[in-house]
Amino acid sequence: MSKKVIIIGAGIAGLSAGIYAKRSGFDVTLIEQHSIVGGTCTSWKRKGYLFEGAVHWLTGSSPAVTGYHQLWKETGALGDGVTVHTYEPFRSVEWDGQVISIVRDIDKTAESLRKISPQDAPLIDRLVKDVKKVSKMPFPVTDIKGVKCENPQRMRLGMLFKMLPVLPVMGKYGKMSCGQFAKQFTHPGLQRLFGDMPGHYSAMALLMTYVTLNVGDGGYPEGGSLAMVHRMSKTFTDLGGKLMLNTKVQKVNIRAGKATGVILENQTLDADAVIVTQETVAALDKLFDTPPQDAWLKEIQETAQSAVCTFVSIGVRAELPDITLPEWKLDTPITYAGQTDQYISFNSYRRHAPEGGTALTTVFLTDTYDFWKKAKDEGRYEQEKEALAKQVSRALCQKYPQCEGKIEVIDIATPLTYERYTGAYHGSWMGEMRVGDKRKQYPGTCESVSGLYFAGHRLIPPGGSPVALQSGRTAAQLVCRQFDKIFR
Ligand SMILES: Cc1cc2nc3c(=O)[nH]c(=O)nc-3n(C[C@H](O)[C@H](O)[C@H](O)COP(=O)(O)OP(=O)(O)OC[C@H]3O[C@@H](n4cnc5c(N)ncnc54)[C@H](O)[C@@H]3O)c2cc1C
Repeated sequence: MSKKVIIIGAGIAGLSAGIYAKRSGFDVTLIEQHSIVGGTCTSWKRKGYLFEGAVHWLTGSSPAVTGYHQLWKETGALGDGVTVHTYEPFRSVEWDGQVISIVRDIDKTAESLRKISPQDAPLIDRLVKDVKKVSKMPFPVTDIKGVKCENPQRMRLGMLFKMLPVLPVMGKYGKMSCGQFAKQFTHPGLQRLFGDMPGHYSAMALLMTYVTLNVGDGGYPEGGSLAMVHRMSKTFTDLGGKLMLNTKVQKVNIRAGKATGVILENQTLDADAVIVTQETVAALDKLFDTPPQDAWLKEIQETAQSAVCTFVSIGVRAELPDITLPEWKLDTPITYAGQTDQYISFNSYRRHAPEGGTALTTVFLTDTYDFWKKAKDEGRYEQEKEALAKQVSRALCQKYPQCEGKIEVIDIATPLTYERYTGAYHGSWMGEMRVGDKRKQYPGTCESVSGLYFAGHRLIPPGGSPVALQSGRTAAQLVCRQFDKIFR
């Protein structure tokens, strides 16, 4: 009889763990509290508009990022018949009546930026050199130690040699914040162009973004997040995996230092191994009477940084520029949650809207969880959402008067929405990489409880969907190693 594996959560990590565990011969049950799979990786439809809620650009969308690309294909997220769009420009800002852009080809970006700001040419040249150097780095996803694999993926010496010249460059960016990086430019328009990420993030995040784009990666799979997770879910169920939707796991059952299954509202399910993919900080708090005591889990609990956002989606019966609206400076800044935003930009999809319309989304990245929580507790939640919606729609209509009176949908997802929807701590969907943070990978296995494994975006900070994907595969390898099965 096959060993039973229960996976808690059918986001990217859970789907990945489920697919690999099923392929490796386990009897797998994937339990998801919602009516659909995907967790944070989702899109939603309102009045004919489809709003993209997560994967605006996907690392591993092209064969250039070998390791992740292979995993996306193996899980059915990408593959034959799935078109991947590499939209241009990636980002642009309006400054003094001109539009300044970052496109995928770093040489082309540099050429246009040098014309706009010749005095910044040395800095631009250095960025080009650094991006090209790091672009040569391999991006493998390798196997854990001690697992038997049908198709082993090992770190080869050649790969290590290719990585060596890149390390000093990464080190340089790792010591600088995004804010410091942007401020090096003398031209205020370039400062804005490179200043889209929160100022305290490590500049490594910027560097890796431009590398991803420069190698032709970071594409957008047709249909977006929801279509992608549905393909993964189909791969899982086609393999014979059991998917239980609308089912919330209350607790992981642990007896005599061993995970023995899960407790649901009305029943208990037994298993030989349990993989937890609910966001790790919340999972430790909610799913255990006594959480496992492993040092790495404590470290996540005590030090994890959270990317938290307020997300605005607008459906407007007007044709706006496709893909991105260049960021612009607002005549009247947007104020909410005790902060002021002077700039705004939108992702813009005409293909996701009814004829003659555009589906727009914009995201406020500051952590405003406490503000929204207080507003909810004090009964002002809907009112505050309306106030923000009014400001955002006013900003859009001032800039694009054709939108006046044409907004058919406006919807605000706060950190509380994400918390309710995914069960994640403060509604977080990624971590943050701050200056000086070292890239680490947590083990996913517990010394204190056998048969208990963790996966999800927290396992390799700062996270994101490729990391969630990788962590699910690693969890399946850990289970294979425990039961001496060949990983497939
Ligand atoms: C606005 C936004 C933009 C983003 N942009 C990008 C991007 O461009 N590129 C990119 O790669 N990534 C992006 N991401 C991040 C990416 O979507 C997430 O990092 C990734 O999807 C996390 O996957 P996960 O499986 O680790 O966690 P989750 O998605 O949180 O999945 C956990 C699942 O577990 C379920 N669950 C929780 N508790 C229980 C329980 N007790 N019982 C049963 N089920 C439970 C949840 O419902 C959920 O389905 C973005 C995210 C957001 C919000």
